[in-house]
Amino acid sequence: MIRKGRLFTPGPTQLLPSAQLAMAAATMHHRTAEFRALYTRVLADLKTFVGTKNDVVMFTASGTGAMEAAVANLTSPGDKVLIVSAGKFGERWEGLAKAYGCQYETVRAPYGETVTPQQVRDAVKPEHKVLYMQATESSTGVRHDVKEIARLVKGTDTLLVVDAITGLGTTHFDADAWGIDVLIGGSQKAVMVPPGLAYCSVSERAWQRMETAKNPRYYFDLRKERKNGAKGESSYTPSTALVAALAAALDYIREQGGGDLAAGRKLLIDNAETAAAMTRAAAKALGLKLFSGSSSGAALTAIAAPDGVDSSDIVKAFRNRFGAIVANGQGEMKGQLIRIAHLGYYDYLDTIAAIGALEQVLAEMGIPIEFGAGLKAAQQVYAETTQPAMAAR
Ligand SMILES: *Cc1c(COP(=O)(O)O)cnc(C)c1O
Repeated sequence: MIRKGRLFTPGPTQLLPSAQLAMAAATMHHRTAEFRALYTRVLADLKTFVGTKNDVVMFTASGTGAMEAAVANLTSPGDKVLIVSAGKFGERWEGLAKAYGCQYETVRAPYGETVTPQQVRDAVKPEHKVLYMQATESSTGVRHDVKEIARLVKGTDTLLVVDAITGLGTTHFDADAWGIDVLIGGSQKAVMVPPGLAYCSVSERAWQRMETAKNPRYYFDLRKERKNGAKGESSYTPSTALVAALAAALDYIREQGGGDLAAGRKLLIDNAETAAAMTRAAAKALGLKLFSGSSSGAALTAIAAPDGVDSSDIVKAFRNRFGAIVANGQGEMKGQLIRIAHLGYYDYLDTIAAIGALEQVLAEMGIPIEFGAGLKAAQQVYAETTQPAMAAR
C-alpha cells in the first residue's frame, strides 16, 4: 500500500495545515505595523494558552533556548539550585546549571519513574534559589506532580521553573494559583508548528530576581525581550514565518473551543488524555509493558520493547511499512522502548492508526498477538470517555 508520512514523535509533531499555509504566505518585514500587530496578538494568545496573567516572552530558538534563559537570567555564579530529574531533559537542567556555574543538587528518579513530592520535600532547602523541573519528561513519558511540588516552594524564596515543553497542551496547569514562576513551551510540540520558537511566562518574583542575578546573557535576555515585546517587537530578527504559523495554530485551538482559546486548550488537553488512555489500554491488551509504569503522562506513551526485541526494529518497521515515525529511546534507553506522542494535531483516527500499525509490526516480528486486541481495548476506552451512554449499552 502507499505510505502517507506521519509524525508520531514527541517533537516535532504533525503540522497543522492552516499553519503551514500561513507560513508560506508570510512575507512581511519584522519592523512593520503589520508584523507588530501579529506579534502582539501571538504574545497575548500565548498568555491564554499558558493560562497566566504574567507576561510571556518569545525567542526564535528551540525549546532549550528558553531553558537557558531561565538559568542565565535567574542565577548568579555559585548559586545553589535544586534540579528534579527523571530523564534526559532533567539532565539538560544539570548541563545548563553547570554551564552557568551554579552549585546544583539533583533529586533523581530512575528512567521510567517520577520524582515524588516527598523526595522534593526532603531535598529542598531555603538556600536553593531556584527549583528546575519538567512537567512531563519526554524521554520516558512520565509526568511530575507539578501542583504538589509547587506547593512545597510556594511562599519561600525558591523560584519554580517548569519545563512544560511537552506539558503545555497535555496537562492542566494553574500557573498563577500554583505559583509557577517560569513556565516554558516550544513551538514543535502541542502547538503544531515546526521547531524554532520557544516561549515562557515569567512571574513578578522572577522579574525581580533578574535585577540582582549576575550570570551573563545577551540573546536570551528576558528583560530586553519583555521590553521589546510590549512594543510588538522582538529584539532581533524573529522567525516571521513561524510567528505567522503560531498565530494560525492558536486560532485553530480557539476555533476548536468554540471561539474561546482557554476552552480550546482544555479540549486539546482532553484530546491528549484520551489518546494516551487509548494507547495505554491497547498496549496492556497486547501484553506489552509501559516503560513509564503507572506515572504515564498524556504527552506520549512510552512502551517497553517485548523481551528479546530491539525497539529500533519496531521504529524501522513503522517507517518502512507505514511511513510513520515513532521515537526510539534516547541515549542509554535506545533499543528499549518506543515513544508514541499524542501532542497537538493528533486525533482519534491517528490514535487508532498508530495502534493498528503497532499490531501489524509486532505480528510481523513474530510476537504472538491477536489482531484487534489492542484496537478493541482502545475503542472501549474511547467510547467510555466520550460517549458513556453508548459504552454502557
Ligand atoms: C522537546 C523538549 C525540550 C526542548 O528541546 P529542543 O530540542 O531544544 O526543542 C525540552 N524539554 C522537553 C521536556 C522536551 O520535550
